[in-house]
Amino acid sequence: MPAIAYHKGSFMPLEEAKVGIMTHALHYGTAVFEGIRGNWNSDHEKVYIFRLREHMERLLQGCSILRMTLPLSVDDLCNLTIQMVEKCGYTEDLYIRPVAYKSAEKVANLKLPELEDDFFVLAIPFGKYLDSDGAIKCCTSSWRRTDDTMIPPRVKLAGIYINSILAKSDAVLSGFDEAILLNQDGHVCEGSGENIFIIKDGTISTPSLDSNVLPGITRDTVKTLIQKELGLNLVERSIDRSELYLADEVFLTGTAAHLTPVGQIDHRNIRDGEVGPITKELSRLYFQIVRGDNSKYIDFCTPVSPNGK
Ligand code: PMP
Repeated sequence: MPAIAYHKGSFMPLEEAKVGIMTHALHYGTAVFEGIRGNWNSDHEKVYIFRLREHMERLLQGCSILRMTLPLSVDDLCNLTIQMVEKCGYTEDLYIRPVAYKSAEKVANLKLPELEDDFFVLAIPFGKYLDSDGAIKCCTSSWRRTDDTMIPPRVKLAGIYINSILAKSDAVLSGFDEAILLNQDGHVCEGSGENIFIIKDGTISTPSLDSNVLPGITRDTVKTLIQKELGLNLVERSIDRSELYLADEVFLTGTAAHLTPVGQIDHRNIRDGEVGPITKELSRLYFQIVRGDNSKYIDFCTPVSPNGK
């Protein structure tokens, strides 16, 4: 099946979408990206792109921070992505990657206004990111999350991911599944590519946005489910490291990771180390919704028929 990308203003085979070695973004990480899931529903024979519009809105927020002016609106970005997924014709779960980047082939130039931009979007078949059949093992990373005064963490700027990549790689090399980063104040921030939630005595807490977390779209989805479907109390606040160890349940949320239960942190079991009851129920609801199987939340999903069938 020919993978199709949109690049430099047109659709083309993925293998023909290339950039040169002088490209600014390659040297300096001057790009903004998104990670979007397309979830295949075999009963409906459709790929459901999850919260496409919100991802493209966040992409444009990142563009504004990097002073990029794409000639594309949110609607254009969504339409191009839908067309690209249609043309690829995949009948499986996908990861969709739109990237706005400084395409200028200028070396030794750090002045954003002098650097041209470009945009591409591609999709790859993508199954599980973390093994979420059971609960995963995490460590607290010795790398601290980048502060808003260094590189803004509210949008997905490519360069900031060095921070996540160092934390994740060290965690995996030490035998853990995922790293949890603290922020500059020493409070819990997030996973290398996920937001974090803890549950204690029926109250669910997650680090507030001023903790330097990415305002995750899955975080927002799960917040809605906690409040509207489970009727539980959700608090956004500063969270201490030791609260992780003493929690009844801990889980991570992210586009790639979906909703992933955490069973152990820094060699300490979270309660019995198994998936807790609230996490289980949230997970059930979440997976129904992202596959387009819950009519109440169908507006979160953009249906695409592979090859326009
Ligand atoms: N934090 C970081 C650092 C991430 O990279 C991601 C993945 N995009 C998230 C949180 C979760 O965000 P979302 O739910 O929007 O994918």
